[in-house]
Amino acid sequence: MATIPENLNDTLTRIEAACRAAGRPVNSVALLVVSKTQAAAAIRQAHAAGARSFGENYVQEALDKIASLADLQPSIEWHLIGPLQSNKTRVVAASFDWVHSVDRLKTAQRLSEQRPAHLPPLNLCLQVNISGETSKSGLLPADLLPLALAVAALPRVKLRGLMAIPEPAGSFEAQRAPHRALHELLLRLNQAGLGLDTLSMGMSADLEAAVAEGSNLVRVGTAIFGARPA
Ligand SMILES: *Cc1c(COP(=O)(O)O)cnc(C)c1O
Repeated sequence: MATIPENLNDTLTRIEAACRAAGRPVNSVALLVVSKTQAAAAIRQAHAAGARSFGENYVQEALDKIASLADLQPSIEWHLIGPLQSNKTRVVAASFDWVHSVDRLKTAQRLSEQRPAHLPPLNLCLQVNISGETSKSGLLPADLLPLALAVAALPRVKLRGLMAIPEPAGSFEAQRAPHRALHELLLRLNQAGLGLDTLSMGMSADLEAAVAEGSNLVRVGTAIFGARPA
């Protein structure tokens, strides 16, 4: 089995190749290493191999790891990419650098109110339900602009962009369609004056399609750590 540093290297090579294929600069896409369910020791290995940004889905699990890896601050950055309940916003506002999964104004308001004064504004992405699946979290595209305008006006958060988890698709072309749709939504928000710079899309199975459609932040777990424990 390949090691974490080898897998990390392979993933960076995939991202570079996808950038070249898309005619984009090879450093135009950042890697968020998705470490949900992985032990702190595995995160430490990835960090030692050069990874700096880590994505977690479950707040309590993440807080435990953030505490046990506190010695790596400030060279480690934590992103919440899983659903966020209102009763967890205070600890999230205090411990994370980014939240990708905002889909309600109330959550963003609480994060803004609760962001500690000594920290810079919390970076936020709005999660869009781009494949229109009824069971998934995320906003419908039609609801995006008013929410984005309201979140952008909050003082202690910084609206950075959009995130989506498209439905799995078989072919490269089928994978591209939802990523293209998310990019178009970002462009539309920017035409409305929002100045967003982050398109958080692409995972282990579809990062090439996401990069082809303009992603600049791919979130990769399985390709780096192997299959997650059940
Ligand atoms: C788990 C997860 C990922 C990573 O998925 P892989 O297929 O393991 O690369 C990315 N984004 C979100 C929101 C996730 O929950």
